[in-house]
Amino acid sequence: MPKFEKSGLCLDYELRKSEKAKNARIDVGVGVVRVVIPEKSVLDPERFLDENLDWILSKKREYDKHLDRLPERVFEDGETIPFLGKNREIRIIDGNSHELKQKYILIAKRYIGEKSIKDKVRDLLKKEAKREIKEQVKQFSKKIEGNYNKIFIRNQKTKWGSCSSRDNLSFNWRICLGPKKVLDYVVAHELTHLKHRKHDRQFWEELERIYPDYREGYEWLKKRSHELVYSKEEYLNRK
Ligand SMILES: [Zn+2]
Repeated sequence: MPKFEKSGLCLDYELRKSEKAKNARIDVGVGVVRVVIPEKSVLDPERFLDENLDWILSKKREYDKHLDRLPERVFEDGETIPFLGKNREIRIIDGNSHELKQKYILIAKRYIGEKSIKDKVRDLLKKEAKREIKEQVKQFSKKIEGNYNKIFIRNQKTKWGSCSSRDNLSFNWRICLGPKKVLDYVVAHELTHLKHRKHDRQFWEELERIYPDYREGYEWLKKRSHELVYSKEEYLNRK
């Protein structure tokens, strides 16, 4: 990775030549500064960085602050992971199956090895999240006149839910790492899109009708969505 250096400052950056790009640009993301230059351009990337240095540094500070707030989870016996508002302790047990309990995440020792504890816990929580999300969809869909097509459970970086033009609903399983009100809000929100595609006044009125307390989950997401990161390493390694 090339380095840009100036008066004591040292900045790693990626350089990419792009056929599609019309103009040169700089992308600053979590842990990355990337200079994108049109294929045939003769622009000097270092000079371009220099010209935009103040902007890059302020962006970078924002992201560093964000990084500091990400949860540092340890996936070991005795450590806790939140799920629907309750901290659950990971317990490595002798049994034959993995199980989510009110206070515990039980992981069968015999299966560790083929996959790490971290993977096993994720698989289990994702499966439970899928069940919970489907159940909430069922509950809220009784209150709304509109039929959904399919439900998909995903793991996008920052998207919590969506409703496609073909009425397929998608949810990020990690909404279940937050409190129940977050799950309820995201589910009610996407179901409301079956009737109102845009976030206009009618949309919010309808959402309030089917879920009067929606603001609590909405506010939580606005302030604390960084807590929905399952693992910091995973989050940083994804594009
Ligand atoms: Zn929406």
